[in-house]
Amino acid sequence: MKIAVYPGSFDPVTNGHLDVIERAARLFDHLIIAVAQNQAKTPLFSVEERLDMLRACTRHLVNVSVDSYSSLTVEYARSKGAEVLVRGLRAVSDFENEFLMALMNRKMEPAIETVFMMTSNQYAFLSSSAVKEVASLGGQVEGLVPPVVAAALKQKFASHQQNQRLRS
Ligand code: ADP
Repeated sequence: MKIAVYPGSFDPVTNGHLDVIERAARLFDHLIIAVAQNQAKTPLFSVEERLDMLRACTRHLVNVSVDSYSSLTVEYARSKGAEVLVRGLRAVSDFENEFLMALMNRKMEPAIETVFMMTSNQYAFLSSSAVKEVASLGGQVEGLVPPVVAAALKQKFASHQQNQRLRS
């Protein structure tokens, strides 16, 4: 059984991630989407919120599960019996970081291979940070993220704005 892990921040999951997830799910027997907990960045959504959104928008994919981890990615993958790490590539700008990370991971665990999925044209510009920026300024994110994420962003920024109004 070929198990693959798709690690990332997913803060929040976008339609670009979902496209990678759906395509990777066709290539492997089981795909685990793994939310990394040990990121230096300050996330907008808690790990639980990110897991809930991922679960909601992958419910239709029978061989996909959702999990979180705080160890090294290769250690997590090994503990799950996975032989493959899936990562997405949007632009040349993604390449250098992804290349270094894949080499580092291979050095730590040669038995685990990183497989890169090219973005689909329509998602080449799409990132979680761009979506957060647009949503924070009140812009439309429909079509960029699953409906459950659009609703969560609206709620998150409405409460942010309310807190700011209370403080000022
Ligand atoms: P990280 O913080 O680990 O980069 P992200 O959640 O931002 O986590 O992304 C996880 C993976 O998904 C990365 O490999 C990233 O390049 C890829 N990815 C993000 N957005 C897209 C997209 N629109 N199309 C294809 N791959 C993407």
